[in-house]
Amino acid sequence: MFIDVSMEITDGMLHWPSDPEVKIDNYSEIKKGSASNNSKITCGVHTGTHIDAPRHFIDEGIGIDRLDINKLIGQCRVIEVPPDVSPISKEFLEPLNINKGDRLLFKTKNSEWINNADKNFRTDYVCVNPEASKYMVEKGVVLVGVDYLSVEGYHVGHDTHKTLLGAGIIVIEGLNLFNAAAGDYKLIALPLKIKDSNGAPARVILEK
Ligand SMILES: [Zn+2]
Repeated sequence: MFIDVSMEITDGMLHWPSDPEVKIDNYSEIKKGSASNNSKITCGVHTGTHIDAPRHFIDEGIGIDRLDINKLIGQCRVIEVPPDVSPISKEFLEPLNINKGDRLLFKTKNSEWINNADKNFRTDYVCVNPEASKYMVEKGVVLVGVDYLSVEGYHVGHDTHKTLLGAGIIVIEGLNLFNAAAGDYKLIALPLKIKDSNGAPARVILEK
């Protein structure tokens, strides 16, 4: 069974405050006499469910088109984060028996907001703190997924991004894990192949 853990991309959807608004312009419509329906979409590359490339925070880092496809597809673990845990810390991670090569998706209370398509940006989302990101690098984690628009807290600096991306860890943001119970899955996460881009929207699915 497959579970779609991607956000819907809609006109005026939730976005990072300083990112462009998502606009979908249906410039050709059959009901208005056109031969076909056609649309233009305007959005940032970090829209909805998306993947960050190293280049997002490291100027000489690789772009989204060069991410290793072997990291984007494979076994993963959905970890349920209790509502009293915020941010995700090293102390929270230590008992989880994290191993080299793990792909970890963190399901928090954020998934409820994402699942409700709440368009209002919230600054109190659950994030990964810098110590937790360093711990995951030490453990040899391959991929980290979170269920809000940033892996990092709001306006707390960029240490988490720089640590994860600098170590070649894939960062998926904006997952909707509302319908994914904690447990092991096969992950398939494919970002649009935008040349040298610092990020790209992705369709992400889990197979039970
Ligand atoms: Zn991003």
